[in-house]
Amino acid sequence: MELSGGVGGARLARGLDRLDSVDLTIVVNVGDDDDIHGLHVAPDIDTVVYTLAGIEGPHGWGRSGDTFETNDEIGALGSDNTFKLGDRDLAMNILRTEALHNGTSLSTFTSSVTKHLGVGAFVVPATDDRQRTIIETDTGEMLAFQEYFVMRQTRDTVAAVRFEGSPAPAPGVLDAITQADVVFIAPSNPPLSIWPILAVAGVRDAVGRHNNVVAVSPLFGGKALKGPADRVMASLGLPPGNAGVLAAYDGLLNRLIVDVSDAADIPDLDGPVSVVALETRISEARAAVSFCEKVLAL
Ligand code: GDP
Ligand code: CA
Repeated sequence: MELSGGVGGARLARGLDRLDSVDLTIVVNVGDDDDIHGLHVAPDIDTVVYTLAGIEGPHGWGRSGDTFETNDEIGALGSDNTFKLGDRDLAMNILRTEALHNGTSLSTFTSSVTKHLGVGAFVVPATDDRQRTIIETDTGEMLAFQEYFVMRQTRDTVAAVRFEGSPAPAPGVLDAITQADVVFIAPSNPPLSIWPILAVAGVRDAVGRHNNVVAVSPLFGGKALKGPADRVMASLGLPPGNAGVLAAYDGLLNRLIVDVSDAADIPDLDGPVSVVALETRISEARAAVSFCEKVLAL
């Protein structure tokens, strides 16, 4: 099983999903969920589902081959359309909003659409409750996650991350962790994508008790491939590089996989967690599969 944010999580999931030996459950962050033009958006779930279905958008969000006529029209009518919803992507968001409005849970809706898209893996939101990631900036402002991430393009310095609500795990989440042979923590943004999952009741304990928890570092030479992971970890006071990833997951890991470009740091990471260097660039599906085979053979 895997704990996942958006892009980094989806890439690992695609590798694991293609291995015949793996019966995959992906528990996905919902701290990024928001209401946009009255629609319930769940960007990390959609990135994972679209990627597993092979219909993901080119920039790590949304749908492939999408158009933005509705979004342009929203702008022409005088509304903020910085958070782009493509015409095809709207279908998913309209149906999800309708389902939630009718009392269907997010997890039930998600498993129904994944089946319709031909995805075999079990994709489950960390919680069916409302959980919102709030960003506190160094000037004391409180920002909704998408305001920080999309509208303000991660320009603010993050002083603290808070998770609103006291969410219960969605059905199947704790069992998936407890019964898994391996718990993967995806190469997602540790504070912004994985901490909200760990904040769901019972999840941190279940992961901490598991004896085969493997995290994949999102860092290459101390930097994220894309997005603010390294900046956020630094401003939250975590040590630089993979020492920061170890600190972000303190008490949870049995193994950390770092990129070969960071192999020289391994002696400095000495401690209870076994640190192994592999080629961790998994943007291509084939690279992801061979990466997952190597990790499972360790
Ligand atoms: P988001 O929710 O879509 O912002 O994405 P995530 O939190 O799941 O992942 C963002 C992180 O994925 C970034 O810090 C990237 O460095 C990392 N990432 C993206 N592609 C790869 C990859 O191919 N390999 C590894 N190891 N990390 C990646
Ligand atoms: Ca995300």
